Amino acid sequence: MSSDTFTQKLEQAARYLDDAEALLIGAGAGLSAAAGIDYSNKAAFARDYPGMLQYGFTCKLDMMANFSVTPELLWGYYLQHIKETRFAPGINKTYQDLLSIAQRLKNFFVLTTNADGLFERNNFDLDRLFTPQGDYKLAQCLRPCTQQTWSVEPLIEKYLPLVDKTTQKLPPGGDPKCPNCGGPTFLNVRGGDWFVEDPWIDGSLRFKKWLAANKDKRIVVIDIGSGFNTPMWVRWPAEEIVRANKQARLLRLNLHHPEVPGDIAHRSLSFSEPANEVIALLEVSR
Ligand SMILES: [Zn+2]
Repeated sequence: MSSDTFTQKLEQAARYLDDAEALLIGAGAGLSAAAGIDYSNKAAFARDYPGMLQYGFTCKLDMMANFSVTPELLWGYYLQHIKETRFAPGINKTYQDLLSIAQRLKNFFVLTTNADGLFERNNFDLDRLFTPQGDYKLAQCLRPCTQQTWSVEPLIEKYLPLVDKTTQKLPPGGDPKCPNCGGPTFLNVRGGDWFVEDPWIDGSLRFKKWLAANKDKRIVVIDIGSGFNTPMWVRWPAEEIVRANKQARLLRLNLHHPEVPGDIAHRSLSFSEPANEVIALLEVSR
């Protein structure tokens, strides 16, 4: 694509935003990647998780939703991973640019499959956030014997120092147990039918209410980095919202899957350029 076409698309996208009455930000793994969280970096993985290499794991992607390992290794890995990706200071330029676009519009909502808490850490209002896939900040019973969840931060403090760096494992039987039944636990993220929905029901209801209140308005949906792993949570709803409302517009930012269905293509703009660059340009163009 020529730079002229890119500039024209950006100008059109800025006009969509200027004209909008409501903004929905939909975000998948591609936004975290654009913001610099890289799950496929092998060199960083070998440096930070040397104990994992002996099991054939070469990058963080290999451990995503991988429940084939022992609880001692699962927790041994995730305690370190979520300390880095969920609880480190997270102020990030791409998220700040998005926040600035959203705050100018005022009437916005965020729908994201990302469990890394980056919207929360970048000061997005939690009342305007729905994370249907859960959040690394909470843990739950894997049975589950209870719908309760509990904070992960104290677990990191207590258990991470016990992880053996040569094996990345906790001591045998030393993985965090359910305080209610003593059974196995994991993070409150959607990885199977054991997922506890309770903490996310409020967000789901708030999202539905917001959508209903804005269903006839000039809504712009920015869909960022949502691919085909779990398209039912962000990618397809984004298209459906635009399809159902003739005044709605879709901005799709996606490196690998920028395509848009034909029936809404005339009300959509798609960008396969890096999302962080497009968002930065949209922010300054307004
Ligand atoms: Zn339990």
